Amino acid sequence: MTDRHTLLRAFEALLQPERFKDYGPNGLQVEGREQVKKIVSGVTASRALIEAAIAAQADAIFVHHGLFWRGQDGCVTGWLKQRLALLLAHDINLLAYHLPLDAHPDLGNNAQLGLQLGLQAQARFGEQDLGFLGTRIAGGSFVDVNALARHVEQLLGHAVTLVDTGGRAITKIAWCSGGAQSYFEAAIAVGADAFITGEISEPQAHYARESGVAYLACGHHASERYGAPAAAAHIAAQLGLAHEFIDIDNPA
Ligand SMILES: [Zn+2]
Repeated sequence: MTDRHTLLRAFEALLQPERFKDYGPNGLQVEGREQVKKIVSGVTASRALIEAAIAAQADAIFVHHGLFWRGQDGCVTGWLKQRLALLLAHDINLLAYHLPLDAHPDLGNNAQLGLQLGLQAQARFGEQDLGFLGTRIAGGSFVDVNALARHVEQLLGHAVTLVDTGGRAITKIAWCSGGAQSYFEAAIAVGADAFITGEISEPQAHYARESGVAYLACGHHASERYGAPAAAAHIAAQLGLAHEFIDIDNPA
């Protein structure tokens, strides 16, 4: 058992949100009860996750995608009203960390995605150093990008959209979880053979063909399932709390 303030301080110390320029507030987004015994972690503070956390008797929910984003109109209506009403009625704390959770060198989305894929980062690149660049932990190369795509599909359980750039071996791999299409040009600039992220937009197919750097989109949700449980489990162990990761299935 701990208190809300101690829990928040522990996450702030781990994830250092003050270092990031982000698209929404990081930290305690919705204040709930004072005493915390159990954390539920998840990718997104969806209604389904909140309902599952209520059923699991959580005192706090820890997510990557919270409720508040730049560009919202500030009205508490529709889906936002429904989600907030559930949190407030059940007095549950909501903690959300976006870019700080992507970036953490060991427990973040990118580090954990790398681990899941058997990749070890040797360098960082791109805006706010969110991109990871590395090689296989086991050493060696993938014979070609199709071999890498099959590897990713198998380990993430999600189809990959591949922009194939030919039969060469893939040694240096860049990755950035979620919707990091805009990091592709920086990945090309640091000399990657292939770039893995969650999503693809129209321009990236051309950049891939013209640069010879392969592009793999493996799913936004599929690429961001690993940071929240790793960080929440770490804090739960540190403070002696119960922790449960609840993955709400998502085709993205
Ligand atoms: Zn995301």
